[in-house]
Parts: sequence; C-alpha cells; structure tokens
Amino acid sequence: MSYIKDFEKTYTPDTQKNLTRKGTLYLVGTPIGNLSDISERALKVLSEVDFIAAEDTRNSGKLLAYFGIKKPMVSYFEHNKRERGEMIVSRIEAGEACALITDAGMPAISDPGEDIVKICAEKGVPVSVVPGPCAAVCALAVSGLFTGKFTFEGFLSTANNERREALEALKNETKTIIFYEAPHKLRTTLADLRKAFGNRKISLCRELTKLNEEILRMTLDGAIAYYEENQPRGEYVLIMEGASAEEQKANAFWAEMTEAEHVQYYVDRGMGKSDAIKATAKDRGVGKSDIYNIVMKK
Ligand code: SAM
Repeated sequence: MSYIKDFEKTYTPDTQKNLTRKGTLYLVGTPIGNLSDISERALKVLSEVDFIAAEDTRNSGKLLAYFGIKKPMVSYFEHNKRERGEMIVSRIEAGEACALITDAGMPAISDPGEDIVKICAEKGVPVSVVPGPCAAVCALAVSGLFTGKFTFEGFLSTANNERREALEALKNETKTIIFYEAPHKLRTTLADLRKAFGNRKISLCRELTKLNEEILRMTLDGAIAYYEENQPRGEYVLIMEGASAEEQKANAFWAEMTEAEHVQYYVDRGMGKSDAIKATAKDRGVGKSDIYNIVMKK
C-alpha cells in the first residue's frame, strides 16, 4: 500500500513538469531497435515541438510516420552541424521549440548533438532531455562484467596512429571499457584489442532489443576464434574487462626500474627526496618505510 503511494507520488504526471516549453531544445532519446521502447514523453514532445532536427530526415521520417507524427524537419548531421547548428539555435532563440533526434538512441552520445548543446549552453538557451535507450548503457547492464565503474570509448579511430595511442592509453585502465563497433570492422578490432590487452574477458552485445539480439560472453581469444567461423552481423557494443592489479603493475612506467631508480625518477622531475619516496611507495602499493629502507641502504 505504502509502496503504491510512493510510486504515485514519484510518477503521477505533473502537468507543469510535462509542458513542452517554447524557446527550448529537447534532446529526445529514440529506440535502438525495438520501437516499443519509445517513451510516452518522447512522443508527446515530438508531437508538440515546432520542428524536429534529425540526423537523417528519411530515417526519422519513418519513425515519426510509424507513430503518426507530422512535423517540419531539418537535417542536422556531422557535415552540416556548424552552420545548421547556428540556424537551429537562432530559431529556438526566436521562440520555437525544437526536438533533436538521431538514427537511434540518445543524441550526443557518439551521435550529433554535443555541438548544438554547447552552442545553447554558450547562449543561455534552455536544453532539456527526454531520456531514451543508450546502446552503451544497455550493453554494460547485460554484459555480466563489472558495472560499478566504466569508461566509454565510443568508436575507435580508423587512423592507425590514433588507434594505437588510444589503446595504449587504456592499458592500465581498471574500469570496464565500452566500445562501439560496426560489423565490417569487428574482426580487426578484436585482433587489435587482443594485441593491446592480452586475453581479457569481453561481452559482445549485438542487435540489442532487435529480433536477433545476442550477447556473447567470452574471452578475446574465444571471440576471435568464433568470428573466424561466423560472419559478424548487425550493430555491436563491446564490453571489455579492465586491467587487473597485476596487469597494472606489469604495465606501469616503473615496472623495469629498481626502487632506487623509481625514487630518482621523481627526484629528477623536481620532487624532494621524501616526497619521491612517498610517491614511489604509493605507485608500488607498499609502505613508505619499505622504500626508505631500501633507498637508504644503498
Ligand atoms: N546514440 C546512440 C546511443 O545512444 O547508443 C549511438 C549511436 S552510434 C552512431 C551507433 C552505434 O551504437 C552502433 O554502431 C553500435 O555500436 C551501437 N548500437 C546502436 N544500436 C545498437 C543495438 N541495437 N545493438 C548493439 N549496438 C547498437
């Protein structure tokens, strides 16, 4: 009984809260596959705004037609976002309400949106969010891996140097790591991940919320072997476990140094001896006195 009362208190629609306001940009989350995942509020806002900015007006036209919504649309995508963003924000400043949608999921997450929100923030134009599914969060939730802390990497660069640097920078990351990937690049990416991180656990979350939804929980070696036999198909989120404490130690910049060299490294960079001993002890996860004794014995 009290649970139901609490539920009503939290969820009774508040007419003030649910007003679609003029002069506002709405970031509206849309389904990542299953159209039933559209929210009631998303449909309300899409029906009530003055116009909709869409990544691909043809794709979004189909979504809107499915829900019986007719609205003027403008395109807003990677290659027109600079001038189009300014134009859209001017219309909002003049009093119109605009909803921004992308092909799937939450706008601004590996999708257009970030820049227009920045323009709005600079100009003091209100931005409101209508939450919807985000493939990264959905995949993390079903991955079976540690969800407490995670880092979102989006798509890895296809430029070799940038890609290598990005993977190198993640070597010591202990949080669970999330990547987006397209099917035709999956095999290369799995090979690159194996090379950079060893045989870590990985969950490959494919076609979430769609008919062919599949969650493969395996190791990188297992995934590479699996995709030698099977053709990658559909959209993927890759959830990879972070570095273990042992890996972190093995990859550390000081892994090949003696304790004394490690202390000297910090001294050479301007630290006093006592602080250098403290920093060395912290890096190695040992007591300050342990390092002190070794260094002073020399
Ligand atoms: N803004 C979107 C979001 O909130 O997740 C992401 C857009 S990004 C351009 C598209 C990528 O998201 C795909 O290449 C894939 O990695 C991931 N993705 C989108 N829908 C997915 C789904 N149903 N299942 C698995 N991955 C999906």
